[in-house]
Order: sequence, then C-alpha cells, then structure tokens
Amino acid sequence: MTRYVYDFVEGNKDLKDLLGGKGANLAEMTRMGLPVPPGFTVTTDACRDYLHTGEAPAALLAEVEHHLRMIQNQIGKTFGDADDPLLLSVRSGAKFSMPGMMETILDIGLNDVTVAGLARHTSDERFAWDSYRRLIQMFGRTVFDMPGSEFETELAHARDAAGVRTDAELTAAQLRELVNAYKKVFHSHTGRDFPQAVHEQLYLSIMAVFRSWNAERAQIYRRKERIPHDLGTAVNVMAMVFGNRGENSGTGVAFTRDPATGRRGVYGDYLRNAQGEDVVAGIRNTVSLSELSAIDPSAYRQLLSIMERLEQRYRDLCDIEFTIENGKLWMLQTRVGKRTPAAAFVIAAQLVDEGTITLDEALQRVSGEQLAQLMFPSFDQDAAPQPLTTGVPASPGAAVGAIVFDSAAAAAATGPVILVRRETNPDDLPGMIAAQGILTSRGGKTSHAAVVARGMGKTCVCGADELRIEDDELTINGRALHAGDTISIDGSTGRVYAGAVPVHPSKVVRYFEGELSAYGDPLLAAIERLMIHADHVATLGVHANADTGPDATRARRFGATGVGLCRTEHMFLGDRRVLVERLILAEDDAGREEALAALLPLQRADFEELFAAMDGLPVTVRLIDPPLHEFLPPLEELTARVARAEALGEDAGRDTVLLAAVRRMHEANPMLGLRGVRLGLVIPGLFAMQVQAIAEAAAARIAAGGDPQPEVMIPLVGAVQELETVRAEAEAVLASVPGAPPIRIGTMIEVPRAALIAGQIAGAAEFFSFGTNDLTQMTWGFSRDDVEGAFFSRYLELGIFGVSPFETIDADGVGELVRIAVTRGRAARPGLTVGVCGEHGGDPASVRFFHDAGLDYVSCSPFRVPIARLEAGRAAG
Ligand code: PEP
Ligand code: MG
Repeated sequence: MTRYVYDFVEGNKDLKDLLGGKGANLAEMTRMGLPVPPGFTVTTDACRDYLHTGEAPAALLAEVEHHLRMIQNQIGKTFGDADDPLLLSVRSGAKFSMPGMMETILDIGLNDVTVAGLARHTSDERFAWDSYRRLIQMFGRTVFDMPGSEFETELAHARDAAGVRTDAELTAAQLRELVNAYKKVFHSHTGRDFPQAVHEQLYLSIMAVFRSWNAERAQIYRRKERIPHDLGTAVNVMAMVFGNRGENSGTGVAFTRDPATGRRGVYGDYLRNAQGEDVVAGIRNTVSLSELSAIDPSAYRQLLSIMERLEQRYRDLCDIEFTIENGKLWMLQTRVGKRTPAAAFVIAAQLVDEGTITLDEALQRVSGEQLAQLMFPSFDQDAAPQPLTTGVPASPGAAVGAIVFDSAAAAAATGPVILVRRETNPDDLPGMIAAQGILTSRGGKTSHAAVVARGMGKTCVCGADELRIEDDELTINGRALHAGDTISIDGSTGRVYAGAVPVHPSKVVRYFEGELSAYGDPLLAAIERLMIHADHVATLGVHANADTGPDATRARRFGATGVGLCRTEHMFLGDRRVLVERLILAEDDAGREEALAALLPLQRADFEELFAAMDGLPVTVRLIDPPLHEFLPPLEELTARVARAEALGEDAGRDTVLLAAVRRMHEANPMLGLRGVRLGLVIPGLFAMQVQAIAEAAAARIAAGGDPQPEVMIPLVGAVQELETVRAEAEAVLASVPGAPPIRIGTMIEVPRAALIAGQIAGAAEFFSFGTNDLTQMTWGFSRDDVEGAFFSRYLELGIFGVSPFETIDADGVGELVRIAVTRGRAARPGLTVGVCGEHGGDPASVRFFHDAGLDYVSCSPFRVPIARLEAGRAAG
C-alpha cells in the first residue's frame, strides 16, 4: 500500500522525488541531529493523486493524524489544546525549488480559544494575537485565494487608528481588534466563518498547497525553468517555532559562501523579533548576519558550526533559513543554494582546491548558460555619470531600459524596460521575465526580487531605499523620473543611473580575446581551469561558423578547432552585388562565363584569408545556398521605379531587364524553392567557379608555406543523384588545379528526406553536417523567418513548447532524424565525419544532445564557442 506521510526522521536528502527538496533536506538535517522542529512530509504521490482525482487519497487523513500524534508526543503539546496549544506550519516543497511560487501557512492551530491559551502560556498576549491575525491572513490568501491587499488595508487602518508607524507598535488590544476586522473580511469574501476546528485548518491548508502547484504563476515559472508539470509538490508540516517573541528572538537566512561572488565567509540577513516571511518578503530591512555575533553570540557560534557541517554533508554551498526563539536556534530549511554564474565558477574551483570535489564534479557544477551570462557586457564605469543612488547589488549585469511600474506594462512593452517596484511578489513574475532588469526600494539579497532575478540570470538592484515610488512617479533625492524615462541599473555594484550608460564587454570575453590574464583574478582563474578540463575530457569538437578572416581569427582565440560553416553567399553582397546581377542577367554562356570570371579572383582572395586564419585546421566551405533573386532588388521597388520612369516618358533601361529577371525568378515560397544544390544544378558554372576558387586559394596558401585544410560542402541535398552530379563536376575542377591539396566533399543534411536516405547519401559524401535550422523548419513545417513573431509566443505561453525548437533541438522529432542519419550514414561509410552547423550548435542543451547522438563536432558562432566547449566537456563527464 502506498504510504503518503513520512516523519522527518524517516527520510534523507536523496528522496527528493518523493519528499520534495525541502522535505528531503529537513529529513537529512534531522538525521544529522541538528535542531529541526519535529514534523512530517506529505509525499508528492499524495499531491499527484489529489490533482488527478480532485480529492485527497482515502488513507491520507488517518496517516496525517498518526504522524501528528508523533509530533505531539515528542513536543509534549497537543494540537487544539485550550491551555498550551501545539501550532503548526504548512509549507510546500517540490523536487525543484520554485522560489516564491508555492505557499506557506504559519500558526495553524489558533482559534478563539487556543489564542487565549497561547497568550497565557507564553505570558505574551500581544504575541498570541499577532500570530492569530497572521494565520487568518495567510489562510485566507492561500486557501481561499483572497487578495492580500484587503488585509493590508485593515492593517494600515489599525496603524493609523493607533497613531503608530510599524506593526510592532500595535498593542495586544489593538491586535485583537484587528483579528475581528480580519474575520469580517474573511467572512465577506468566503461566505463562511474562519474555521475554528484546528484539524480542518490543517487539512484545508494541505490541500491548498497541492492546488497551488497548478497556480498560473507556478506554471509560468515551470515553463520558464523547464520543470515538468506532472511532478507535484510535497507538503511539510512542522511544529511552529517563533522568531517574533521579542528581542531575544529573530529569524534569518544564511549562506555558507557569498552567493554573489563565491567568496568564503558568512553571508546572510537577520531580522530581530520577526517571522521568516518578513525576511523573504523584504518588507523590513534586515541587518547583516555578522551582527548576530553581537546580538546572540552563542546562537551565532552554533549556527556557524552547523553551516560547516552542512557544507561537508552537501559538498556545496548551502543556504539556510533559521529561527531563534528565546535564544534557542532552530533550523527551518536548507538546500544547495542558488548562486550567481560568477559564484558558481569560483565555488566549483574552490571546492576542488579544498579537496571536497574532483575536477569532473566541478564541471557538473557550472553550465554553458552560466558562462553565457558572464559573457554579457557591463557598464563602462568611466563613462557612467554620478549614480542617482545605490541599492543592494542582488543579481549582476548591466541593464538599460525605460521605467515601467507594473508587471503588466513590462510584459506589454516592445522595447527594453526596467521594472521598478517597492518590492516584488510572485504576481510580478511575467513582468520580471519580460524586463531587462528589476529595481526595488525594499528588501535585501534574499528578497523575492533578488532570489528570482538571480535564478533567471536577470540584472537586479534591490533595497534602494532612497527611492520613493508613488503611482507612476519615482523620486530619488528630489529628482523625479516617470514611466518611459530611461534608467540604467548595475546589478554588480547596485548603482542606479539616469539615462543610458554605455556598456562595455565582459572581462570574461576580454580574457577569451587574450586581452586579460587569468592570473590573480579568482573568476578568470576558475574559468580557465574548468575550460582546460572541459577540453581535456570532451569527445565532441567545437568548430565555428565564420565567413571572414577576422571572424575565424576570433573563433580560434575562443578555442574553435576549425570552421564548420563558411556561408559563401555572404561574400556576394556589397559592391559585389553587381557582379552577381551580371551573372543572373547573362543571356548566353559567354556572358555568364565573363561574370563568373570576375567573381573568381574575389572568392579566391576571401578563401585565402580564411584559410590563413584557420591554418592547420579544417575549414568547411558551403557552396552558395540562398535563392539568387535575393541578390536582386525587391520586386515592388523595381516595379515602382519602372512605372515611374514610364510615367515620365523616360527609359527605365537596366531596370526593365532586372524587373523581367525578378519576375521570372519570383517564387511564392523561396525557402522551399530554387536554392542550395538546386541552384548549383540550374546555373551552369556557379558551383564550379566556387570550387575552383577554393582549390586555387588552398594551392596559393601551400605555396606560401601554409597548411590549408578546406572541405567543400553541398547544401540542401535531398537525393543522392543531386550530390553525385555536383560531386562529379567538383572533382573534375579539383583535379584541374595544380598544387591543390586533397579536398573532401560532403553535404549538409537539412532536408528530412536526406536524413532518411542517409545511407545512400553517405555513398557520395565524405562528411555530413546537420543544418538544423532548415531541418527544423522542414520537419515541423514552420517558416524559420516568420514564426517567432507570428505564433511562437502563444505556443510558449500555452506550454506547447518549453523553448523554441529553433533554439534548442527538438530531441524527439528533429533529433530522431539526426539519430537516424548518423546511424545509416555511418553504417554505409564507417568513419564518416558528422557535425552540426545550425544555430543549435551553440545551445547548451542541444550540445549535450549532439554529444549523446555521437556527433564529431558542433559548429556555432564564435561568441558561443567557449559555451559549447564547456558543455562538450560536461556532456562527456
Ligand atoms: C541550417 O540550415 O541549419 C544552416 C546552417 O544553414 P543556413 O542557416 O545558412 O540555412
Ligand atoms: Mg540551411
């Protein structure tokens, strides 16, 4: 029989699927003998059952009661007891942490009777009534979806009526009145009284946590983070401990290392006389954790020793939520902590130095996404004006955008925006996703804004308490800014600037460019070390998509070991367009040959430059691919020009001829038309000219003492006969160029048919390179040029895609074609080289897929080369 409830003493940290992350970690801490309040976890199985049937599993309530009795025995208090009541917290906890997404209800077990018992027993009437009003508020919001603002309004009234500024100044009698007001609000919204039956409070709370799994903001977060929707959440029920019992009590969040930089030391925030939600919501400003050493030296020492033990146990940075109740320390949560990308690299390298993890493990602690974020630009400090103010640097990066004051405006904006809020809450998630950066006036590094922004890799400055935000105006030290005004925020320093501050390249990019040494810089040194190890273990090579010498040179500095795609059509633009026009307009062989002869030396010079930049490494040159009419003026423009000339009685001359050619070549669907190999077969001499230029350039490089390694690649092949025909022509040309090295001829696999008949195609190809842009387009039937604006955003919203298939390879569909082609191609030609040169080659998740599919290399834009190298190493680990 399935069990639905586990006591904390029964679980361990590896049971995250069943107990969720929080439950598994509470169990682990309990097993380690750390001071965790007694409690139990309701499993994700129970949640899935509930979501499936709409009802709690039949056995659940009896199990909950059984485990509740165990808590009562352990703690010596009874749930619902009129004299000394046990109070409970109920918290969600899914397998993957979803900050701010799910729900917490505290102080369950208070009602009109037990509140008096709590007051008597603690001799603290104020505390008891404050706890009761918190319960009604959280219960109303979580279980009955009541808007929090209703309660906030009552609270503000109570403060005004009492003539005080903060909640802490309200007296017991005033809080009792507030409870009455809250009950009325509760009744008017729900049509029922606030439940006095404590067991009912508990069950309703557990079910509410189950339901919150499907709340819209939770779904959005999961889609963004690619967390599966069918995992469900566990629910943790724990005896309450109180951080709001006076100056001897408090609550805090701690990190075993700095989650922003990775530096060793003690980091965190502490708030005296408060409950955990006050810290995370950033509602009141906290003190730094080190100040706890003066406030409560013994609890501080105990906390430090626990933090050390947790790091040893988890072998990683941990974050911790704790509460001190009357001088006694309680651990409420721990987990392997989120960190900035820079901290991830620094900590991984530190842990290797400390002998805690191996280099292989260190590679798994960082990701290509994180490296990509470190390659973003930052502000040019020399060009920055005087900052308007400085807040807490919560998530690094440089963001410039127009001010928006609410999430909806951020989500609707067309240009870059900065979301400016007093504080954020989970309802702001869509706006946070849409914004370039987030600026808040309240809250520390552990506030909702900070935690969520860091998770997304988004720039965030929080707690800028000089900001005054009223409706749609922001004032900073007397200066007013409005919605739409541009500001710049620096998530690494916390500085906020008016206007757009110029940005400059990241130091990581400058390091890869060879402009900075890693020596003496912990981040660069960590990156260097992990990149060396990644290259050492990787079996997947990384080439670059580069069309020019300078691009290839940069790619090489970034660690590319070849050019996987040179798109030769890029060499036909600019001044050379007229030469291409001449080729298209040629009426006979002589005219065509003349046009090709004019292009030949230009192409040869291009290739020489490219081969020189990649000397000693393979350069895969793809013969011209796009439809030729792309090199002619657009139809509408020409038609207008010719019509104008005719109306004026002038001779439109060349335009008339061009117009005729454009009309002749016009295609309703050019991406599926005369392009790639089809073009090579239809325009005599075009491919031959390119092959000749490649061979002559290689011969010239050899004569100059170089070591060129060109390859010829034929695009858009769908039938082996296409390839055989072009190949025969190319081989004849290659044989005719004296001094040319052996040059391999291969093909792109970008038409689904080519993937399916890869066995035949391999008979005429020495290598394959997957053009996954076209392969995705043609497999899905999505136009790669139109879909992003047309309907992808809706598809992403609906969760039909977690991510665009043009960004991350669709492993099930397009990926299956890749696997088929690799298998059939290699079966026909053992040793066939197989790579990929579509955009997916630089996407971290896709790199892993290509490694698993057995490819020899990925090719991506130069800037993405380090990211792909790191991911190739991780995939091999
Ligand atoms: C591809 O289709 O994936 C490819 C690399 O070719 P292009 O993007 O030039 O069509
Ligand atoms: Mg293509």
